[in-house]
Amino acid sequence: MIKKTLAFILSVALFAACKKDASVGPIQGSMDDVAFNKYETFFLDELWKQFPDWGTSVGYHKYDSVLLVPDKKTRDKQLRFVKVQLDSLGKYQPTAFLQTNKMDYAIMQNQLQYMQWQMEQLKSYEWDPTYYNIIGTFAYILNEHYAPLEKRLTNFYQKMLNVPAYYKEAEKDIKNPVVELTNLAIEQHQGGLSVFGADFADSLKKTKIPEATKKLMLDRAKLCTDAINGYTDFLKNLKNDQPRSFRLGKALYEDKFRYEIQASETAQQIYNAAVERKKFVHREMAKITLKLWPKYFGNQPKPTDTLDMIAKMIDTLSVKHARPDEFQATITQLLPKLTTFVAQKDLLTMDPTKPLVVRKEPGYMTGVAGASMSSPGPYDNTQNSYFNVGSLAGWSPEKAESYLREYNQYTVQILCIHEAIPGHYVQLVYSNKAPSMIKSIFGNGAMVEGWAVYSEQMMLDNGFGNNDPEMWLMWYKWHLRSVCNTILDYGVHCQNLPKQTAMTLLMHEAFQQQAEAEGKWKRVSVTSVQLDSYYTGYKEIMDMRDDWKSKIGDKYTLKEFNEKFLSYGSAPVKLIKEAMLAKENPQGAEKH
Ligand code: ZN
Ligand code: ZN
Repeated sequence: MIKKTLAFILSVALFAACKKDASVGPIQGSMDDVAFNKYETFFLDELWKQFPDWGTSVGYHKYDSVLLVPDKKTRDKQLRFVKVQLDSLGKYQPTAFLQTNKMDYAIMQNQLQYMQWQMEQLKSYEWDPTYYNIIGTFAYILNEHYAPLEKRLTNFYQKMLNVPAYYKEAEKDIKNPVVELTNLAIEQHQGGLSVFGADFADSLKKTKIPEATKKLMLDRAKLCTDAINGYTDFLKNLKNDQPRSFRLGKALYEDKFRYEIQASETAQQIYNAAVERKKFVHREMAKITLKLWPKYFGNQPKPTDTLDMIAKMIDTLSVKHARPDEFQATITQLLPKLTTFVAQKDLLTMDPTKPLVVRKEPGYMTGVAGASMSSPGPYDNTQNSYFNVGSLAGWSPEKAESYLREYNQYTVQILCIHEAIPGHYVQLVYSNKAPSMIKSIFGNGAMVEGWAVYSEQMMLDNGFGNNDPEMWLMWYKWHLRSVCNTILDYGVHCQNLPKQTAMTLLMHEAFQQQAEAEGKWKRVSVTSVQLDSYYTGYKEIMDMRDDWKSKIGDKYTLKEFNEKFLSYGSAPVKLIKEAMLAKENPQGAEKH
């Protein structure tokens, strides 16, 4: 998983991924390219003016002090902005552009159409109470050290002015909301209250702001706390006889999938492929288990149900794991081994000047995930990439044991491949070198997650783990998570999949523990489409590598494929495929 900075109001996938200069220097290209690059810069500044919270979350701080009240007037202005930009885009002729600008163009167009669709068709401001949430942005301003504290607190103070009006408007617009999203909104708002309470007060104490001003600031924060409490009371007492279903429905789902995943296939096609993939993986797992059986169970009889037999083997293999206090050290020691392996097998070139720092998960992230990557935002050049590892200190022995069985001696290696080398971290380093703000800001989730999943298999295919059947079995279990994420998401939102069937899918067919399966059910009932990104991206990369092999023939090398694929930045796989498989550009304009 990649840690997202904020849940953005339009639920646009945000990737705190790449660091880039806002003004990319002169790139070779036609006058059209030059004009288009100017337009991009203009477009982004206008975008942040219309969506200041989003700007803050990607590190663009010009509008930090602004909070727009989400009323009809604001929405109309935003929609007008979107339509005007679509119009402006229409005036360019992308066919003559440099490859990188062609991609930017397609990404911007898709993004704007997506926003228009969200405002005109999806209308989640009417039925999703989590649409209204200011806490993330305020917490970001308070916790991230991008500017001196006093400056950030002043912006915080000015931005607070509209908070009461903001929630008044929310209460006016919400009708028959989704119950699950209503409960989540209550949870998120109650959980975030301290941002305007103790957190803000503690930060104020660290400054030399005059006492009288401090008092004004604290008084305004109190009004914000009241407004948030008012909103949660409103949600708790809302008469909601005919709530909207949390299931998105097939029509909206296919549209959302098209805009968000930007795959070359439909959601239905990807779902069908995932169902087939699951069958294939089960067959492979059964073969491996049969082979391993005598080694672990001797003459003991095998369970008659194949999946029960596989589950028994997985349970047995999961017993080997790090001690709770060694977990972080295990990860730190694994990373250089992965780097060495990638170099030995010539899988791709790594940049030794961009080290990855392993750190204990910072306090404000605690409880989100056991391990994750944090990377600087698109406008933020100065910071490191971090591999955050949650501490298991203070966990009950049962909880720690269950966690460590999940991240046992096999899967902890796959975790490090996925999150770091050559997964997310390596992809981000490459992405940072692709000179496009557009691609970093609208980074494609399916490409990013797909690469991480693809890189797991690529490592094993090349002999990582010595081809041990144990390693392969555990990878298949891990991989089933991605596959079943897609089956679950599509099933729930398009096919009315009941909870009981979903739990059987996750626990019996994907070998997950009850707690993990329950967590996944909760996630699928408050999100849609995002869970498709892992398997869809993986499948598209694998498919396109086959096409690339046919194109290149005898000269094919894995390294060239990997490096070329990554060189385009976090663009949709579909667009990378178009670029890589295109006939050579006659003007030779493509940048290498
Ligand atoms: Zn991931
Ligand atoms: Zn144990």
